Amino acid sequence: MFVKLIILGPPGVGKGTYSTRLSKLLGIVKISTGDILREEVRKGSKLGRLVEKHLKEGTLVPDDIMVRIVEKRIRKAGSKGFILDGFPRTLEQAQALDKIVKIDAIIYLSMDEEILIERLLRRRVRKRCGAVYNVTDIRKVVNGVEYIFPPLLSQRRRICDLCGGPLVRREDDEPEVIRRRLKIYKRLSKPIINYYKTRGVPFIEICVNREPSIIVDRIVYRLKELNLI
Ligand code: AMP
Repeated sequence: MFVKLIILGPPGVGKGTYSTRLSKLLGIVKISTGDILREEVRKGSKLGRLVEKHLKEGTLVPDDIMVRIVEKRIRKAGSKGFILDGFPRTLEQAQALDKIVKIDAIIYLSMDEEILIERLLRRRVRKRCGAVYNVTDIRKVVNGVEYIFPPLLSQRRRICDLCGGPLVRREDDEPEVIRRRLKIYKRLSKPIINYYKTRGVPFIEICVNREPSIIVDRIVYRLKELNLI
């Protein structure tokens, strides 16, 4: 039986990047609700049409829809293990998840807000293949933490290395939408964090202040310490 994880953290901290890397490394399924919803919108499905406005405006899709989607994916993962990215976003979702499966650990990623916004504004994505690039070059000390992020550039400007398609800013990476998403995150994440802490679910708290390979090593180290992998 493989490990069952949740990755938590503010929008832009790198949940997508880390869940992708960890799923490959550990051989578990990545379940990203944001990716699932964006794909439905792209396909123009009934679900996609229903959630389109929420995605564009950075507001939350109703809990019952989200719980149904996630439950189906967890069942499909079977005994393979999984990492949930973008879910649960509300206390109600966390409580519903508890009835579906027992989570082994929470990976909780943090980053200074000023740096988060800077990185989100300069993030470029390739919608079709999911690749992510960033043109920011950050070297700063904030609140005693040193942040070092070299840029992650594509070889050709605004062209994806993987599929050759155009790189664009994600629709919800506009300044006003970013601020709204952060505000929603701050309000809703506290009860979720408290919920898991009071239930004694192991918490792996990591400050994301370096590039992904370093952070992945820190996460793996902590998972091993907990005998989860
Ligand atoms: P993300 O890629 O995780 O930042 O998600 C992008 C958008 O999808 C969010 O701003 C919400 O509109 C929607 N979304 C993703 N996951 C959830 C969830 N668990 N509950 C409600 N809405 C969600």
